[in-house]
Amino acid sequence: MFYARLGGSVLAPAMNIAIIGGGPAGLMAAEAAVAGGARVDVYDAMASVGRKFLLAGKGGLNLTHSEPCPTFLTRYGGRRAQIEPLVAAFGPDALRAWAHELGIETFVGTSGRVFPFDLKAAPLLRAWLRRLRHDGVTFHMRRRWTGWDERGGLCFATPDGNLSVETDAVVLALGGGSWPQLGSDGAWVRVLAGRGIPIEPLRPANCGFDVEWTEHFRTRFAGCPVKPVVVAVTKADGTESRQQGEFVITETGIEGGVIYAVSAGLRDAILAKGSAVVRLDLAPDRNLPRLIADLSRPRGSRSLASHLQRRANLEGVKAGLLRECVPKQDFADPTRLAAAIKALPLRLIAPRPLEEAISTAGGITFEALDERLMIRALPGVFCAGEMLDWEAPTGGYLLTACLAGGRAAGAGAVAWLKSRSSF
Ligand SMILES: Cc1cc2nc3c(=O)[nH]c(=O)nc-3n(C[C@H](O)[C@H](O)[C@H](O)COP(=O)(O)OP(=O)(O)OC[C@H]3O[C@@H](n4cnc5c(N)ncnc54)[C@H](O)[C@@H]3O)c2cc1C
Repeated sequence: MFYARLGGSVLAPAMNIAIIGGGPAGLMAAEAAVAGGARVDVYDAMASVGRKFLLAGKGGLNLTHSEPCPTFLTRYGGRRAQIEPLVAAFGPDALRAWAHELGIETFVGTSGRVFPFDLKAAPLLRAWLRRLRHDGVTFHMRRRWTGWDERGGLCFATPDGNLSVETDAVVLALGGGSWPQLGSDGAWVRVLAGRGIPIEPLRPANCGFDVEWTEHFRTRFAGCPVKPVVVAVTKADGTESRQQGEFVITETGIEGGVIYAVSAGLRDAILAKGSAVVRLDLAPDRNLPRLIADLSRPRGSRSLASHLQRRANLEGVKAGLLRECVPKQDFADPTRLAAAIKALPLRLIAPRPLEEAISTAGGITFEALDERLMIRALPGVFCAGEMLDWEAPTGGYLLTACLAGGRAAGAGAVAWLKSRSSF
C-alpha cells in the first residue's frame, strides 16, 4: 500500500493492484481497476502486450457477435451459468460502445459477427494502450511471473534477475496454452496447482485434427480447401449437429472454420474412445434421390472421374476424398456412391496439439472462484480470461468473455480492497 499525496498532505491510502498478463483480459482488468481508483501496474512476460490479440487481427478481428443474447450465451455450453453474469455486465453492445469510445467503429458482417471497420486489432490496441497510460496504468515488460515468495511478494524473472513485488491485490490474466510463442504458455498451471487450486487440464479448443491419410492423398491434396461442405457430427446425447462451411486438408489431417465449430465434441469423443467420426456431405446442394438419379445415368465411355464431375459436380479434392474413404466396389453402385457423397465417414484420430489451437479449454475451475473472480483459497488473487475453465467456438465469443471477465476481475479487486476498511 502507498499513500497518495497532494501538496505534501497525505490524502488516503491508495490501492495497489498488479495485473499479470497484458492480453485482452488483463488490459480490461487494468482499465476497470484504474477506473475504480487503484494504482495499477501491468506485468507481462513478453516485450510488448497483446500479442495474441494482434494475431487475432490478422485474419480479421472478430470482436463479438450480434445474435440475440440467449443464443449468444448458449455458445459457452456447460459454462453458460458462469459466463452469463459477466456478459450481462459487459456484453456485445457494451463492447461495441467501448470500441467506439476508443475511436474504433464496428460493423456486423453477413454472418452476424462483429468486426472493427478495418478488421485490424492494431489500431484498437494502440488507442487502448494510449488511454490506459493516460489514466495512469504503468506497464512493466519482460517480467515473467513465477509465483510468490515466502513473504507473499509476487516473483518475476526478468532479464536483469529476479524481482519481488508487493501489492494489495493481483489479477492473473495469463491466458491459456495455445500459441506459446506469443506469451501464454500455461506455465502458471504448475504454480497454482502447487497451491492446491483446482485446475481442469488445458486442452486444445477450436483446433484441427489428425487423419491417417494415405501418402498419395497427402501429397496430392495437402493445402486444398474443401468447400462447400457440411460436416455432421453425432453429439454425446445422440443428436446430430450439422455445420456448413469449409475446411482445409493438411499434411496431418484437417482444420478450418467448420471443423473448429464442432471441435469440442470431437476432442472429447477422441479422449473418451480413441477416435471420432465426422460425416461429410460433399454435395450439400443436391439431395440424395437426385444424386442417385444423376449417378445412375449411363457413364458410356467416360472415365469415372469425368462421370463424377459431370453428374455430381465432384472433382479435385472432393473426388480425392471419395477415393480415399470409399471402398472401390462402391463406386460401381450409384446408390452406395451417392450415400457416401452425402455422408462420407472420416475418422479423426487425435486433436492437433494445444500449441496450434486457436484457444484453450480447461483452466481454473469456477468453483474455486467467488462471484468477483477471486480465488477463494487465495484472498486478493483474482483471475480472468482464457485461464479460466470455459470454452467457446470462434465467432467473437472468446474475446467477449475475456474482456467481460477482465472487467469483472479488475472491478472485483477494487471492490474487495474497498470492502477491507483501510481503503
Ligand atoms: C490465430 C488466432 C486468431 C484468433 N482470433 C480471434 C477472434 O477473431 N475473435 C476472438 O474472439 N478470439 C480470437 N482468438 C482468441 C483470442 O485471441 C484469445 O481468446 C484471447 O487473446 C485470450 O485473452 P487472454 O487475455 O485471456 O490471454 P492472452 O491474450 O493469451 O494474454 C495473456 C498474456 O499473459 C502473458 N503471460 C502469460 N504467462 C505469463 C507469466 N508467467 N508472466 C507474465 N506474463 C505472462 C502473455 O505474455 C500474454 O500477454 C484468436 C486466437 C488465435 C490464436
